[in-house]
Amino acid sequence: MRLRNVPGAKEEMLVNPFVVQEPAGKKGAWAEVFGTKRPLMLEIGTGKGQFITTLAKKNPGVNYIGIEKMSSVLIRALQKRAEMEVDNLYFLRMDAEEIVSTFDKGEVAKIYLNFSDPWPKDRHHKRRLTSREFLARYEQILADAGIVEFKTDNVGLFDFSLEEIEAAGWKLLGCTRDLHHNDEMNAGNVMTEYEERFSSMGNPICKLICAPDREKKAE
Ligand code: SAM
Repeated sequence: MRLRNVPGAKEEMLVNPFVVQEPAGKKGAWAEVFGTKRPLMLEIGTGKGQFITTLAKKNPGVNYIGIEKMSSVLIRALQKRAEMEVDNLYFLRMDAEEIVSTFDKGEVAKIYLNFSDPWPKDRHHKRRLTSREFLARYEQILADAGIVEFKTDNVGLFDFSLEEIEAAGWKLLGCTRDLHHNDEMNAGNVMTEYEERFSSMGNPICKLICAPDREKKAE
């Protein structure tokens, strides 16, 4: 993502009512933050927030958290949030590496990864959000029926992700290399900022849905 420094963005993160401060202290108590227990769903690398703000408006029965490490991007999501009258959307300004100290075992129903940074150099593979290291973190916080949904136009990252899912002992529940021409998987699809940009350039969008294979691991 091309980044412009936005003056005041870092300071805004500390005072904005929709950015939860010291999120590790909320581990196991996210229902209290929202004031109601509903399924909790995360988007990691939420960027400017188009995807998660749309979902929050569409699904009032779900609690959503957008996680983003860059203040200068998250500030754009917060501008969208300020215009919304919902009670089911908060944001965390943090690195997803901290996710296990932030959410309790089984606390999360779904994790969305949209157009995650590809980290093309081999030595950076552990930073990719679909690496086996990240899958192991997700496994610790996902509920029994919890799933991960991942979209990208980057074929190299998609192939890597499929390999990592297998290596991590996860199961693949759905997969397409042309989401916008797959009626079943595209039903109800909410476009992200990157998805709009890359699909308008003619790039096919890949999507997979996966989950820890707990039965296989219990054998
Ligand atoms: N999801 C948005 C979309 O599809 O339009 C933004 C995609 S952008 C390429 C990836 C975003 O993920 C960036 O804003 C980046 O700062 C964020 N990101 C990457 N690694 C992250 C991490 N470890 N923790 C939190 N955010 C991360």
